[in-house]
Amino acid sequence: MHTTAHSPRTRPRTTRHGRTTPPPATPHRWLALLLLTALLMLAMALAAPLAAAAPPLPPLPADIGESAHTYVDALSRITNPDGTYTGLLRVAGTEGEYEAALKVAGWFTEAGYLPVLQPFNYKRDGVAYASQNVVAWRPADVKGAKKKSAAARPLVIVGAHYDAVKAGQGADDNASGVGVMLEVAERVADLRLPYDLVFVAFGAEEVGLIGSNRYSRSLPKADKDRAIVMINLDSVLVGDKLYVYSGTNGWTWARTVMLELAALRGLPIETQMGLNHKYPAGTTPNGFSDYTAFNQIDIPIAAFESTNWEIGELDGYTQTEEYGSFWHTPWDTLEMIEFLYPERPMERLSAFTTVIHDFLTTLDPKTIDVTESIELEPAVPETAAL
Ligand SMILES: [Zn+2]
Repeated sequence: MHTTAHSPRTRPRTTRHGRTTPPPATPHRWLALLLLTALLMLAMALAAPLAAAAPPLPPLPADIGESAHTYVDALSRITNPDGTYTGLLRVAGTEGEYEAALKVAGWFTEAGYLPVLQPFNYKRDGVAYASQNVVAWRPADVKGAKKKSAAARPLVIVGAHYDAVKAGQGADDNASGVGVMLEVAERVADLRLPYDLVFVAFGAEEVGLIGSNRYSRSLPKADKDRAIVMINLDSVLVGDKLYVYSGTNGWTWARTVMLELAALRGLPIETQMGLNHKYPAGTTPNGFSDYTAFNQIDIPIAAFESTNWEIGELDGYTQTEEYGSFWHTPWDTLEMIEFLYPERPMERLSAFTTVIHDFLTTLDPKTIDVTESIELEPAVPETAAL
């Protein structure tokens, strides 16, 4: 604002020596200053407790992340009933992958869910394979979905692929994501939530994101329309940094909320800074993981990952400065990762479990803007393959 008028009481006066002095303080002015100081002190006194009380989050359970860790161990080394390692790997389309699906379904059942296997077939290099997703709705949501009045309830989808490549045991990629998903599922099983919630363990991710594609295509239109977010967990165990991204469809509300929640807990979860012009800041491109199919049907994405976007080709593919990548290598076992980084797996599992648990337990679709979005540059390249 531009103004030329000075109040006579505050106009500076020029002395004989040309220096400017403020007007003398009158008793009236002292009184005003005193009042102002008192008000300021009162405001500060009020603001301090408010600021301290700002995090609306309850204290964390001391054992957060421990259950996820147990699942990572159990899923990456599938054991016989007597505890011996079967030696089966979770390679897509194999008996090992099927055994893993049954394990995951059993864990969902123990946690209080009604899991179903969603079988599907696919062809690769002319050979037919069978795989399956494990889909776990909360029983309350299944009952609610039958009522007409429940049709408009918002839907939250949480997903992680449970298959793995031949190398290693897929502890990071992606027993870790399944482990976090299962612990979160355990912790919210008995809560009343103002939305419907479905967990999906995807099969056949490593051979072309097939399970998540089949699942997204099988969603009824009503479910696609009411889905407010798809939360994806893939490879969250060992990278130098912890990330959450939105998809490239521009919907950003869930990423924003996740980052805010992480900050409230002091968790070092960030998003990628866009150092590589091919990958706009804050986003992950289609093709890297199972969020792709949901991003393509315009559902907002919050995709979690642990890697390092500041090294290598600046494409998020190199996970650690010291040892490079673990995914798709023989080093992707819990034993090796904990030998090299004793603290990391537990820290990562605990952080991601915390933020997703906080998200699901504080989410009230009535009071939050689930339409927050940004415009991305039009030429976002899609990766051709995994
Ligand atoms: Zn993966």
